[in-house]
Amino acid sequence: MEDWLHCNACYIRIIHKPESFSVTNCAHIFCNKCVAKAAGSMCVVCNRKCSFTLLHVKMPANTAIYFKEPKELVTKAMEMLKLSEDVRKFQSLQRKSLMKALTSKNEQKEKLLQAAVATMTKTKKENSDLKKFIIKNRKNIPSISPSHPFMTMQFSPDCSPPSSPQRISSRKTPPHYYSSVPS
Ligand SMILES: [Zn+2]
Ligand SMILES: [Zn+2]
Repeated sequence: MEDWLHCNACYIRIIHKPESFSVTNCAHIFCNKCVAKAAGSMCVVCNRKCSFTLLHVKMPANTAIYFKEPKELVTKAMEMLKLSEDVRKFQSLQRKSLMKALTSKNEQKEKLLQAAVATMTKTKKENSDLKKFIIKNRKNIPSISPSHPFMTMQFSPDCSPPSSPQRISSRKTPPHYYSSVPS
């Protein structure tokens, strides 16, 4: 940067010693002698209140960048551009992978849902057919009244029906006693 570096007040050039200069936030450069002569913190070029930053290897990056070679900045920018393309490709692949997995899961869920709906539809139809059958054949189904012989049958403990039905009303023992239980 030495070919253009000079004090904006006295125009001195000090080769290979950038730390002999300071830069202001109003973008003016002064040699250390002129900085010392500056009244307070006023810039002698534009007469604005300013702050001075010594040109040094540890100066803030946002100031240091103005003292770098433009070619160097372009090279870095190109590298960043290439890196940004790699980053874009990487993130794109990750997104595609996620989309593929989510789509596959959705398809599986959709298949399960369709199977469940088909089963439900089939069951509904079977229920409907059964209801229709019952309504149609209701008259043909014999009604079982409490006096029906089947309801008055007494069963032995081994659950085999007795050879002849007996009427509960004729028994003196409570109905839960079986006729074969010894009294
Ligand atoms: Zn100067
Ligand atoms: Zn200035």
